[in-house]
Amino acid sequence: MLRRMATETVDIVASLNNIRQLMKNACATRKQGFKEPLLIAVSKTKPVEMIVEAYQAGQKDFGENYVQELIQKASDEQILSKCPDIRWHFIGHLQRNKVTKLIGAPSLTVVDTVDSVKLADALNSGWEKRQLDRKLDVMLEINTSKEPNKHGIHPDQVVSIADHINARCPGLKLKGLMTIGAIEHSTNIRPNPDFVSLFACHQALCEHLRVDPSELELSMGMSEDFEHAIEMGSSQVRVGSKIFGSRVYHTITDSGDEKE
Ligand SMILES: *Cc1c(COP(=O)(O)O)cnc(C)c1O
Repeated sequence: MLRRMATETVDIVASLNNIRQLMKNACATRKQGFKEPLLIAVSKTKPVEMIVEAYQAGQKDFGENYVQELIQKASDEQILSKCPDIRWHFIGHLQRNKVTKLIGAPSLTVVDTVDSVKLADALNSGWEKRQLDRKLDVMLEINTSKEPNKHGIHPDQVVSIADHINARCPGLKLKGLMTIGAIEHSTNIRPNPDFVSLFACHQALCEHLRVDPSELELSMGMSEDFEHAIEMGSSQVRVGSKIFGSRVYHTITDSGDEKE
């Protein structure tokens, strides 16, 4: 189990303003007509109070990567009363046995990490059972760095899984593609080969589906490389530590002791 520990004081409003300005600057390097990317504030391990503060500074989109944590925060009384228009993005690895739990979370807007036909089918049937009159937005997670320990589909499979969702999953709406990418790439290599690869997947998929590239999102870029990602075509960046401060994870052992 992971537990959060308070470490540094952060000025969330100032960090958010700073990030938004840097995003604007990066956006200005793109050619005309490129829409301003969406900022997803990644609040994993951070307390509800910080989320409320960011929301009150105009931030509506938040990302979480543990099912239980997302559900707890999304159902929290403060969040429900103070953040009525919040949008939750699930950005972690999703196991099929957690699908039903996850999709019951209030204000769940999109699942970023669909990485198999089976998971798409599970999300679809779970969502259809709820009989809502809207679809659940999903993104395909692509393993652009092809690391064996990373989740995500191989770039070669993108078209076939997208076709499956469009043809067989009427409860889902395919919103775009996302990648996490290799850490070494994010700090050391320019242009980042993961971003180059996701951009190519996106282009190929748009051509295949005959949709305008602006209709399919490209989610790439985190605290260390969101500006570069925007220069490379990102339409959604997921930023955590640059907004909320660094994360400290404490493992709780069976005896209840905490250790780093
Ligand atoms: C934690 C996380 C982020 C944010 O990471 P930072 O480096 O803190 O900005 C973005 N995307 C995913 C999928 C994450 O798990």
